[in-house]
Amino acid sequence: MIMYKRAADLAMHLEKQRKAGRSIGFVPTMGALHEGHISLIAISKRSTDLTVCSIFVNPTQFNDPKDFQKYPITLEKDIPMLEKAGVDVLFLPEVAEMYPHGTRGLETYDLGPLETLLEGKFRPGHFQGVCQVMRRLLEKVHPDQLFMGSKDYQQCMVVRRLLTIMGLPTTLHCCPIIREADGLAMSSRNLRLTPEQRANATAIYRALMQIKTGFTSGPVPTLIENAIRILESAGFRVDYVSIADANTLEPIPGPSPSGAIALIAAFQGDVRLIDNMIL
Ligand code: AMP
Repeated sequence: MIMYKRAADLAMHLEKQRKAGRSIGFVPTMGALHEGHISLIAISKRSTDLTVCSIFVNPTQFNDPKDFQKYPITLEKDIPMLEKAGVDVLFLPEVAEMYPHGTRGLETYDLGPLETLLEGKFRPGHFQGVCQVMRRLLEKVHPDQLFMGSKDYQQCMVVRRLLTIMGLPTTLHCCPIIREADGLAMSSRNLRLTPEQRANATAIYRALMQIKTGFTSGPVPTLIENAIRILESAGFRVDYVSIADANTLEPIPGPSPSGAIALIAAFQGDVRLIDNMIL
């Protein structure tokens, strides 16, 4: 695995690879890697000739500065994991490499309702930050295929929109959610849970399963109330439980021809977890 800190060196290497006819897969991450990240790398390796991974904790997507400061950094563990997974190139930029003119007064993107629904509503500015960093990463890597996790379902929709805005031909793959044995979706933030909070955290999966099982029979408001009850009894402070159209994320009253999805965001202590399930 070759590691680059400078975008110019990365670009030169990738240009050579492209000229040699190799297709490029890209897996952007913020590090603190787990099997969810590794699954994206495995899919990229099966689908492309060369897999590029990035680790960059992007300051502009944290609407809460404390969340940014506490974001886990485990590079000494991440690098061997990436080598073992067979990543060809790791891009490890500093903030100044990504934002040479600073992180203030950056460009903004028209994301439509995605900006005000669910994560957009509860984390104002978050998706602007996601677009700012993704635009810079995409301009440096120019991947043929991009691999992201559907755990961050709304983020996948935002990045799909960004690709359209940028007019890029890159194919985006929204890959399956990898879970722990007890159903908890793998997440870098799980590292910040105490053992008690970690045990409580399985309530998210139970709440999603309750919605999935009851979806065809139960009225949606009751399903949502029951899910909130499950979460609150496990000590969660709920941002939202939503049953939504899988294409628009607008709330729906029942099964929808374009598909339905249940989405949850909730705090266990000061750790905010998100998860979702296609219904
Ligand atoms: P992050 O490092 O949290 O920014 O995540 C980097 C990528 O990994 C994103 O595309 C996430 O959606 C994806 N990801 C995070 N957790 C999981 C998971 N449990 N299963 C699959 N993909 C995941």
